[in-house]
Formats: sequence, structure tokens, C-alpha cells
Amino acid sequence: MGHVIGIDLGTTYSCIACLEAGRPLIIPNLEGLPTTPSVVSFTGSGERLIGTLAMRQAVTNPANTFYAVKRLIGQKFHSPGVQEAQKRLPYELKEAPNGDVLVVLGSKTLSPPEISSMVLGYLKACAESFFSEPVTDAVITVPAHFNDHQRQATKDAATICGLEVQRVINEPTAAGLAYGLGTKKNGLAAVYDLGGGTFDITILEFSDGVFNVLATNGDSYLGGEDFDNRILEWLAEDFLAGTKIDLGGDKLALQRVKEAAEKAKRELSFILETEINLPFISSDNKADSKHIRRVLSRKTLEAMTGDLVERTVPRIEQALADARLSPDRIDHVILVGGQTRMPLVKQKVTEFFGKAPEEHVNPDEIVAMGAAIQSGILDGRVRDLVLLLDVTPFALGIETESDGYEMIIERNTTIPTRKVKAFTTVEHNQRRVRIHVLQGEGFLASMNKSLAVFELVGIEPAPAGVPQIDVTFEINADGLARVSAKDKETGLEQKVEVRPSSGLLPTEVEEMRRRQTGREVVKLGPNV
Ligand code: AMP
Repeated sequence: MGHVIGIDLGTTYSCIACLEAGRPLIIPNLEGLPTTPSVVSFTGSGERLIGTLAMRQAVTNPANTFYAVKRLIGQKFHSPGVQEAQKRLPYELKEAPNGDVLVVLGSKTLSPPEISSMVLGYLKACAESFFSEPVTDAVITVPAHFNDHQRQATKDAATICGLEVQRVINEPTAAGLAYGLGTKKNGLAAVYDLGGGTFDITILEFSDGVFNVLATNGDSYLGGEDFDNRILEWLAEDFLAGTKIDLGGDKLALQRVKEAAEKAKRELSFILETEINLPFISSDNKADSKHIRRVLSRKTLEAMTGDLVERTVPRIEQALADARLSPDRIDHVILVGGQTRMPLVKQKVTEFFGKAPEEHVNPDEIVAMGAAIQSGILDGRVRDLVLLLDVTPFALGIETESDGYEMIIERNTTIPTRKVKAFTTVEHNQRRVRIHVLQGEGFLASMNKSLAVFELVGIEPAPAGVPQIDVTFEINADGLARVSAKDKETGLEQKVEVRPSSGLLPTEVEEMRRRQTGREVVKLGPNV
């Protein structure tokens, strides 16, 4: 095996790293930059652009420029998150025959893993240019609270671009690993990760090379984009009041406003006031040009986004409660994700834990560095570390009689894990049982998220309650689940990777991989 790279596939930006002489090193992209926008754009002439070049297309070609795809990956079209995202995204979404979400590109559709694979393919090409040799293996990070479908879809994206995934690792765990190994400090740490599209909080313990994740919590629908949207709404409402022009239907104008909003938000992390200036944003029915020109202060921004920052607090409280710790027990607070540069976020976190976050942590790079370290743990190049113990973010269980729910694996169980529970039939001579795998903690089956359904067929006829069916749940180190059911009497067994009702089929992944790797090998520029 050649070089293994660590990849942080972010909602807005991605970053790659490798291990050099036992230390993580950020690999620059083909433009020499440490991070790459996670954006793919298709021009009118059919050219595919990735990264910075693609991002520049967002204003002129919004319907064919795909960003924030991580918010869609592994999701159902009708899920609340996708429906909410659809309102804001300038590109069109569609429902796949299996209920997944698809992205519309002219007369074609693309799956979110396919689009993410293009970003990953570009990052792979950057690493190949850096090493001057092919790169085939990677450790890839995902938000800690990504569920099975989202993890599998991310893995599929890597497979499509020709990368072999050595391990899927949680983003905050990767950050904790990079911080803990870099500083050689022991103690309890809280990793607060607020990126472009997701929020995660993870509580871990470092002790002489043993990294033990105690609890994790998060929100898939909370990130920097929500802050941008608040500024966008503020500008659009004011524009409507002043001009009677609703920018809602004008994708091009909205994209310009969104970019200006994000820029203003970033600036306000360092200055107290900034001017948003968007000339010729629209025109009225007399063809008079209309402009946006408004001053935004940090104070106003904080007033309009304070509730978003507040929304992270119950998540931290829950993670601490699960770890059976009070905030004052935390020795190190580590901030990850670009949105944590906002002073209000730092202030809230400082107030909550009663201590300032660690300095000298680059929130954009630390996750990729942790992924690179994980690659070194796997192949033995990192020796100081004895053990990394992560946890599963969700409870898993199965549906029982009359909408009942039997939890089999509890949230925050250390992975890998394996649990077996015995079930029986409810009717005389019942020949088959339906195993409905669910994620969640609701006491009724219908309160939880459906992950997969399969049947065990051919049970020997017997009175109700006599057959013994062992249901086994296994979660591997990537956080991926596999469920099997076995009839003890006959030895009959059915297994399921938790993906049949959703996600790409292995044959589809393979077909996409063939299509993509055929191209990627020959083109190395950002224009892949
Ligand atoms: P990540 O997913 O970690 O790359 O985080 C990207 C998010 O961080 C985006 O929403 C950015 O707008 C946001 N971000 C980056 N820099 C800053 C900054 N200086 N102040 C506030 N937010 C920022």
C-alpha cells in the first residue's frame, strides 16, 4: 500500500492531510490552498469544474452548481432536512424511485454520493500531484451523529472515485486525536464542532495514548449556512419593504446575496461593522436598477443568530449527562469548524464550560490531520497511541408486536460492538418473521427512524412463543451496522447490511466508479 490520506469532506470546504515522519501534514490543493470548496459545477459546454473554480460559477450558473451536498447525502427526499434545504438551494432536487434524494442536472439526475465523489476525486488528484504517485487509500471523516445511511453513502462516494476507505472516523474524534497526540496532554476534552452544515459535540478522555470517547451528540441541520441564511433573509426582507421586489424567485440575485452574506459574516468575526454592497441586484417594472447597500454590525448579527448558537447548548448538556460529567470537569475545550470563529460562539462555549477554548488549533485543518493520524494508527506508523475507542451516536433496535420497540444497542455504546437478543413468534405455526431495524429511543416503533426491513423465512411450525430467534446487531469500527436473525431450531439465518431500502446498490456504485475513474486518471487539473 502506498500513501494513505486523511480526508475531511466538509459541507462547505474539504481538507486533506498525510503523515510525514509521524506528524500530520496538510496537503495543499492544486492551487496551493489548504482547503477546497466542496462544490461541483457543470458549465453550459458540459465542462465539469470542482473546488474554487466551481464556486465562482455559483452566481452565474446557480442551477448547475452543486454545493452543501453533504446535507443531502444518505437522506430521503421527504426528510425534513432535505425539504428545508430545497427551499434554499438554487439547484433542483428530485425523489429517486427508492425514496432517496437526487440532484437534477438538465435532463439527467445525479445522486449525492456521485457529486461528493467528484470532490473526493479532485482531492485524490491533489494528493497524487503532491506525492507524484497514485493514491488509492484513505481515512475519511463524517460528523459524529451521521447515521448508517449517511456513513454508507459517504463510503460509496469514496469508492466511486477509486478510493479504498481504510476507516470512517468521526470528525470530532479525529480532532481530539490530533489535539491529544499533538499536545501530549491528558484529561477530559470537549470537542465543539460547528461547521458549514452540521453541529457535533463529543466528550473524550485522553490518558497516555488511550483515547476514549465517552459521549457524542449533535444536530445534522445546524451549521454556518443557517447563519448565512439569516443575513440573507434580513437583506431580502428589507429589499422587499423598500422596493416591493421579492428576490425569492431570482436564483441569480439570491446567490449573490448569499455570498455577500457569508462574506459579511466572516468579516464580523474580526471587525465590528461591515458594509454589504450589491449594485444592480434587481430592477423594477420601469427597468430602474435596484441596489442593496446596508451596514451590518456584529451586534445585529448576534441578535439575529443568537438562537442558533443557543440551540447547541442542550446538545452539550445531553452529551455531558451521557458521560456523567459536569461542565467544570472538562480540562480542554477544542473548537472545530469554521463557524466557531464567530466571537459569540466562543463566548457561549467559554461561559458554558467556565474556561476559554484551546488556542493554536486550526479549526479548518485539525479534522483532516486527525484522519491522517488514524491512517498511521491503522498501519502502525503511529505508535504512541495504544487505543482509540469511539461510540455509536444512536440507539438501534427492532420493531416488536403492536408498534412496540425493543432497543438492542444503546446510544454512546463503545464500538465495535455486538449484541444478541432472543425473540419469538406471536402466532401459532408462524413461518416467517419480519425484522424491522430502527434507529432511535422512542418507546413506540413509529417514533423511530426506519433503517431496514428483512424477513426470516422457513421457521419450523410451532406454537406461538416456542421458536427462538436470535437477533444479532453488530456495529463495526466505521460505525456501520449489520443485523442478522437466526432461528435456533433450524439454524436458518438472514443477514442484512443496513442499507437495502436506501442508498446506492453495490452494482450502481461499481458502475459509477467505472465511469468516473476512467476520466479521473487522465485529468489532473482543478478542471477534472
Ligand atoms: P467547515 O465546514 O468547517 O469548513 O466550516 C465552514 C463554515 O464556517 C462556513 O459556514 C463558513 O461561512 C464559516 N466560517 C468560516 N470562517 C468564518 C469566520 N471567520 N467567521 C464565521 N464563520 C466562518
